[in-house]
Amino acid sequence: MSEVLRSIVADTKGTRKRPLAKNCFVGVGCQANAVRKIEHYTYVLRGLPKVEERVYFPYPFWPTGKQFIIGLFCTENFSHNSVKTFIERKWGLSMNEVEKVNISGGRIYVHTADDVVSASVVELTPYARGNCKLCPDLMADFADISVGGVGSRGGYSTVVLRTPEGKEFFKKALAAKVIEAEELHDKKELDDLIEFDKKMSRRSKKSREKKGYAITFLDKWDDEDDPNEFARSVNEHNIFTELEEDVILTGQCVDCGACGLVCPDHNIRFENDRPYGINRCPDVPCGYCYMVCPRTQSFHKQWANTDDVEFYSVRAARVSGGVQDGGVVSALLTFGLEREMFETVTINTSDDALKPKVMTTNDVRQVREAAGSKYSVSPSVLGLRGAR
Ligand code: SF4
Ligand code: SF4
Ligand code: SF4
Repeated sequence: MSEVLRSIVADTKGTRKRPLAKNCFVGVGCQANAVRKIEHYTYVLRGLPKVEERVYFPYPFWPTGKQFIIGLFCTENFSHNSVKTFIERKWGLSMNEVEKVNISGGRIYVHTADDVVSASVVELTPYARGNCKLCPDLMADFADISVGGVGSRGGYSTVVLRTPEGKEFFKKALAAKVIEAEELHDKKELDDLIEFDKKMSRRSKKSREKKGYAITFLDKWDDEDDPNEFARSVNEHNIFTELEEDVILTGQCVDCGACGLVCPDHNIRFENDRPYGINRCPDVPCGYCYMVCPRTQSFHKQWANTDDVEFYSVRAARVSGGVQDGGVVSALLTFGLEREMFETVTINTSDDALKPKVMTTNDVRQVREAAGSKYSVSPSVLGLRGAR
């Protein structure tokens, strides 16, 4: 262990036990962005005049506390159907024969009853969701801790510590020997990928603009606009059809689920990787869906945790059942629940048909079983319905 890491562990000895948050949300960058908006507007909305005109209290389905977020590195994502098509074409396997799919160390692994086949994720790229090409947030900047494979050698994950809470949590896990850490192996590999990701997002924006699409969230990525002003303007004007016109029909929706979570009228359902409005919005539309959508305005400058970050290469000290990110995410979640640093965790798993499914649980066994699940396109933020 290096001097720096030794001093980190020494620092933590004797720190008191204290909960970090009621719930820990695990997700990719766009989902983390949505969760931060929900967190912020849950408080701000209470002071907005239009809200008080509504006949019912709009928050019963929103978590009201701050979320501790573990963000997952992500450069592209795939719908369940596109992964299914890839597997059928590549190996001639139907999903009935497939027991588990996971992506680790730059490869996709497909497990059947008696075999495991794998391919480079580069082969999957043509099947990636088009709107991910617009995304500049590879490292989940809005999270407390980000985890991913790039920058570390085999068996290790890169961990980015972003907030004081993230650092405290990591240091306690290290002191408890739940994880093992080293100096980051290859920062240049990470920096190169971040640069490449930003270049691709600028290129994709330009090509969409040539087709006449307004890519509003990228134009405002680094703006210093007041998030509360944005909320006020949206609260007065926006209804679901505007979200549809500005985000969904321009191909910017990332199917995060945030709009569905906050709609007080249960007016939004998810199908075919996008949200649909079920009924007309009430005569006094609230605009919450537009407000929390990560693709209307992100407020990256205001809320992203990009200052004073620390990077490490980390692996789980105990193998925790799955292979995703070398088991680091599972190890951290299990540690957090066992030490009561949060009461529940919101994670992705898959159903019997291997479709992604989100759940909020306090059961360590379920967390271990979900290890290795692919965080594919799914409205994961809806999982916060079960959180506080
Ligand atoms: S928009 Fe796509 S690439 Fe960006 S974080 Fe979300 S799923 Fe990943
Ligand atoms: S769909 Fe209509 S009622 Fe629901 S959050 Fe959006 S504006 Fe409000
Ligand atoms: S439209 Fe809804 S599901 Fe799509 S990105 Fe916005 S909040 Fe998420």
